[in-house]
Amino acid sequence: MGLTSSLRRNNKSFLRIFMILVLSCIPGRTNLCSNHSVTTPIDLPPDIRSSLDSLDLEGYISFNDVHNASKDFGNRYQLPPLAILHPRSVSDISTMVRRIVHLGSTSNLTVAARGHGHSLQGQALAHQGVVINMESLRSPDIKIHKGKQPYVDVSGGESWINILRETLKYGLSPKSWTDYLHLTVGGTLSNAGISGQAFKYGPQINNVCQLEIVTGKGEVMTCSEKQNSELFYSVLGGLGQFGIITRARIALGPAPHMVKWIRVLYSDFSAFSRDQEHLITKKNGFDYVEGFVTVNRTDLLDNWRSSFSPNDSIGASQFKSEGKTLYCLEIVKYFNTEEVNSVPQETEKLLSELSYIPSTLFSSEVPYIEFLDRVHIAEIKLRAKGLWEVPHPWLNLLIPKSSIFEFATEVFNNILTSNNNGPILIYPVNQSKWNKHTSLITPDEDIFYLVAFLPSAVPNPNSGTSNLEYLLRQNQRVLNFCSATNINVKQYLPHYETQREWRSHFGNRWETFAKRKHTYDPLAILAPGHRIFQKATQLSPIQLF
Ligand code: FAD
Repeated sequence: MGLTSSLRRNNKSFLRIFMILVLSCIPGRTNLCSNHSVTTPIDLPPDIRSSLDSLDLEGYISFNDVHNASKDFGNRYQLPPLAILHPRSVSDISTMVRRIVHLGSTSNLTVAARGHGHSLQGQALAHQGVVINMESLRSPDIKIHKGKQPYVDVSGGESWINILRETLKYGLSPKSWTDYLHLTVGGTLSNAGISGQAFKYGPQINNVCQLEIVTGKGEVMTCSEKQNSELFYSVLGGLGQFGIITRARIALGPAPHMVKWIRVLYSDFSAFSRDQEHLITKKNGFDYVEGFVTVNRTDLLDNWRSSFSPNDSIGASQFKSEGKTLYCLEIVKYFNTEEVNSVPQETEKLLSELSYIPSTLFSSEVPYIEFLDRVHIAEIKLRAKGLWEVPHPWLNLLIPKSSIFEFATEVFNNILTSNNNGPILIYPVNQSKWNKHTSLITPDEDIFYLVAFLPSAVPNPNSGTSNLEYLLRQNQRVLNFCSATNINVKQYLPHYETQREWRSHFGNRWETFAKRKHTYDPLAILAPGHRIFQKATQLSPIQLF
């Protein structure tokens, strides 16, 4: 009896390790490295399509018009799905996942939840699989609960701008944001959701009280810190690997009426980063702290005048930005209309602790919603010029504080010659305000920086060629520098080509990640676009075993 149970136990651990090894394989059937566009369908047995078509759904499944779901904002990958599910209920999603699990090893079918497809490298795509259009899941309606600890219940496909508009009606608002609000709850919670409030409240994944999930087995589970907590933390920052977020309960706080929005410049990186770090560790300081780098920009301050007022108009007009690498600190103080008289004094006091170039102080006062939705204004302008749907070879890095000076010195002075192709954001956050139990991987230091290179590859009107290759090479030079100098950088919105890179990204948390994948999505059908795990099929060792 003892021997048999010990053998069983050993067998179980062997099976578990074996499954983890198998799940660790990067898919090999689509070569995305050389050509990101794959149009040849994977061979599917004819009964697969009819098996999906026959599902009893409240919404519907479409095998046509799959074009929109074959691309994303990055605009470099084109991988058409077999079908798109437009769910009307959680049960539609669960039914679909269960059917795909049931088809099991006889099909290559995978499933990707798609928010607004603002991913960069195919993370929301499912080549010849099923894409779930989360936006059509309209339940629950946005439902606000007031009280001591207010929160809002929303569907996983809801966009943050809609949540803001609705919560503002009650004088409430989520606390942590992204810079752009036309993203979905499921999409940002699968990553992290980071912006200038994250130093204070942590990323969006730290401001969630409860989730409803359809796992990779098709089960519908509610989870929170106290209930099914392993699933809760797995899903947050989990790159869609463990389940589909169908509902989220998001913590709210009082919404300010207005913001005082301030920009100042530095020419010295040390002074800039010292002030940023001072602000994120200060109590009762600013409510939002970000920053960006400008390399050799002409008339930078003149351009600011359309939205901001200079504190020293003459000094500002004499300031020259061309030929220089400059660092802009962008800070915001929230206030209510009745506080309008005390805000200037308060911000002046905070500014007096900083060492920016005095003539470069610009500020404006705008409604809270206008500030939060600021990137949408740029989107409208870019769309009008046909410049929104161009390739976006973005690179987002998390750099430990101990290496930021070395990184900035090399990258902003030697690797980048201009930032004419798009913004470069840089700001620190406090790890102590971030929950360590989620699946998000960050550098192992109390303070780390988000550095976001956000270029657009715009076609040259004369030659017709684009600078995509050049921008990709520049990204690679930045990564090579980090690797050559052993900077413990972590990618945010990570993208890797090889299994070795994914393992290195997760470090000693890889095994837990793979084990959880086996628990919640044993056939590895979810979010195949990240290419972390390969679906177990008839021919793979997982089935032979
Ligand atoms: P999608 O791109 O559709 O999906 C992203 C991933 O999540 C995919 O793997 C998908 O399968 C999965 N997924 C989607 N919905 C669900 C769901 N309901 N359940 C489970 N998995 C799901 N990020 C920041 O953190 N901070 C920023 O300031 C910021 N600014 C941005 C500005 C712009 C202009 C853009 C385009 C992106 C920005 N992002 C930012 C990145 C953004 O967080 C990601 O693009 C993210 O993917 C959200 O986009 P989406 O909602 O369209 O999700």
